[in-house]
Amino acid sequence: MTKINLLNFDLKHMRQFFTDIGEAPYRAQQLLKWIHFYGVTDFEQMTNLSKALRQRLQETAEIVAPEIILDQPSSDGTHKWLMQLNCSNRIETVYIPEATRGTLCVSSQVGCSLNCSFCSTGKQGFNRDLTAAEIIGQVWAAVRTLSKEEGHHDRHITNVVMMGMGEPLMNYDNVLAAMNIMLDDHAYGLAKRRVTLSTSGLIPQMQRLSKESPVSLAVSLHAPNDELRNELVPINKKYPIKDLMATCKAYFKDEPRRKVMFEYIMLEDVNDRPQHAKQLVRILEGVPAKVNLIPFNPFPGAPYKRSSAERIDAFRNILIASGIHATTRKTRGDDIDAACGQLVGAVADRTKRSVRWLKKITTESSENL
Ligand code: SAH
Ligand code: SF4
Repeated sequence: MTKINLLNFDLKHMRQFFTDIGEAPYRAQQLLKWIHFYGVTDFEQMTNLSKALRQRLQETAEIVAPEIILDQPSSDGTHKWLMQLNCSNRIETVYIPEATRGTLCVSSQVGCSLNCSFCSTGKQGFNRDLTAAEIIGQVWAAVRTLSKEEGHHDRHITNVVMMGMGEPLMNYDNVLAAMNIMLDDHAYGLAKRRVTLSTSGLIPQMQRLSKESPVSLAVSLHAPNDELRNELVPINKKYPIKDLMATCKAYFKDEPRRKVMFEYIMLEDVNDRPQHAKQLVRILEGVPAKVNLIPFNPFPGAPYKRSSAERIDAFRNILIASGIHATTRKTRGDDIDAACGQLVGAVADRTKRSVRWLKKITTESSENL
């Protein structure tokens, strides 16, 4: 009999599980606390459960998180972990410590089907969705690993961003369950503003999410007009900028003080000129927005260069002069390729698109010899 992995369950699903086996629903809170707060995986240690229930769970259930098989610490305190899933699948999770917070960048899929032209995950093609256990398991494993480190207390993950590998809204149900656990006071108790979902702009799922989860929203915009965005973020052909902006405008309509974070990757001579900044100001008119400029992280075979610091500053100044709150993302963990959106490393992957991509870059590099 295959055992049920209780790491998959948020409060609602955990309650359902206990009701289904004829147990009291309040057991759900107890289990969430044991698993996520105390990090206990052995039912025998769950002392407030009856002996009979412990025995029963031992036989039918399990608590299994992805296993960290490689930990790459960077000189600036950033960690990149390679995590092993079942079979040959691997994902990456990044931890970025700062003075007042610690951010974990979590993956939602193995690969991604959306094929943005500047994204190394997109170049790998899509392999599969992660289960809720594999998504929240990244947080679980990171908390456990960091708490073993010297000088770390056990609550150092203050923020989670769904900005690792994959498009989280293509894996809606599992991502929602995992984020529910992040917010749950019995589990990680993160504030809603400190959990951020980043999407390339899947409008129907965004509309659903705005009703079903209170987390913060980041939208990967990257271009101020449809022509350019169609090229950089191909899903724009299905969900163009005008509709996307209308969706963003309505997103936090019941919470007027919240803003959507727009991510804008800075690609030299592609989308980084003053005229692009001015266009961006126009399309953001009336949208509660802040903008985060992301210096492009190059990867082998990438067809772009990172914009210069001067270009990025000039771009940001145009936004600021128009009253838009704009920041530039610090690049961290450069020595280990650990920036969000740059999670490719040693990920084993055998999709067709990645084979085509590898062929292309090997041919191009041999042509350059
Ligand atoms: N699929 C989601 C979330 C994962 S990507 C999305 O697209 O929003 C997380 C962020 O990393 C996105 O803003 C993405 O555009 C950015 N990113 C992807 N490739 C990058 C690269 N090479 N350099 C810098 N940022 C990158
Ligand atoms: Fe997928 Fe996001 Fe990368 Fe685009 S940027 S390919 S949506 S992971």
